[in-house]
Amino acid sequence: MNRNAAKIKIIAYSLSTLITITTAGCNLTRKSEDFEKKQDITFSQIEPEVVIDVSVKEEEYTEEIDDPENKSEEIIEEKEKFIKEPKEEVIEEKPEVIEDIKEPKEEVIEEKPEVVEDIKEPKEEVIEEKPEVVDNNQQIINALRSEYYNDLIQYDYLRYFVAEKIERYVDYKLEHPDKSFIDVITHVNIGLDKSFYTNIKIIDNPHCLTALVNKYNAVTEDFVPQNLQAISSQYASGTQLLIQFAKEAYENMAYAASKEGIKLTALSTYRSYDSQYKNYWSKVTVSRPQWHVDLFNARPGHSEHTLGLAVDINSFDQSFENTKAFKWLIENAHKYGFVLRYPKGKSHITGYNYEPWHYRFLGEELAKLVNESGLTYDEYYVRYIKEYEKVKEVTEEKQLVLNK
Ligand SMILES: [Zn+2]
Repeated sequence: MNRNAAKIKIIAYSLSTLITITTAGCNLTRKSEDFEKKQDITFSQIEPEVVIDVSVKEEEYTEEIDDPENKSEEIIEEKEKFIKEPKEEVIEEKPEVIEDIKEPKEEVIEEKPEVVEDIKEPKEEVIEEKPEVVDNNQQIINALRSEYYNDLIQYDYLRYFVAEKIERYVDYKLEHPDKSFIDVITHVNIGLDKSFYTNIKIIDNPHCLTALVNKYNAVTEDFVPQNLQAISSQYASGTQLLIQFAKEAYENMAYAASKEGIKLTALSTYRSYDSQYKNYWSKVTVSRPQWHVDLFNARPGHSEHTLGLAVDINSFDQSFENTKAFKWLIENAHKYGFVLRYPKGKSHITGYNYEPWHYRFLGEELAKLVNESGLTYDEYYVRYIKEYEKVKEVTEEKQLVLNK
């Protein structure tokens, strides 16, 4: 599509199709479904991805303990590191990606000596040839880079295309050639081209129903939601708090389910920053490393439970997906404003193992849109919500200082 024409089209559509939602005191505008269609990119075009879901159960993880005392000390040191320098741990993960990119180079260089032996040419010539091979390899990468750049720039008509991120899009596409360009743009916008728990931003809308917290976005330790209310004991185990809108919606949902013979019980809802801190660190033990805990538990400040907008229902076992209650929730939760937040096969996006029990309240209208899109909320947010909230990249000094 001609780009200028596309832009004009977009402006016209954006003016005509933007709608305004008011949620919990937060004004934001969001485009309607129409807009998505006009861009010729429908949700159904999003390619399914190969996903590595960690199927290990939380409680099954064990490791041989050879020196508990030393390991305890290591954990204490790890905790201190986490408190002082949250970035460090994540840097360790980077080498994997770098290795992938460099692999082709090494292979080519290794093959050289064989050619040299056959020809029996003087060493000097071989040395001269080596850089050429590397150059050839580099040329291929440069050619690909250029091709991807030209392909990606075609997507600048998308509202969520961020021109400043073009180099990151290109790099990410080079690392993940199988991902569609739309997914590349979306995933980089989420921050997935960097390791989890890096480039952490403090969200500036924690009281909005749309607020996104994940492994890149957090609330501060002093954040407390407004209007927390206890769920009726009929539908909850012990005292369970959600913000008023979410609490009422949850009770309506649980009531509707009960009419169909389905019992919904809220097992875990609001958790303060402090309780999340204790909860998270109590899971990191001598026999269970932090990377494993991270698959199941949010670090303090990064939990949706701290927003007062998340509820864990009925069970903490993945077999919950085989129950009538789960099937009912999948068919009906969005009608009451809830979405399944950590779906199966999306760990590479959400950073969490599949949690059939964890539901996030977004309000009826938004929950329906997210549900129809088939996207995770992380993806939906960076495509259709973040753009309108004009959330700025947070500067270094605003970076989260965890657990200071
Ligand atoms: Zn949960």
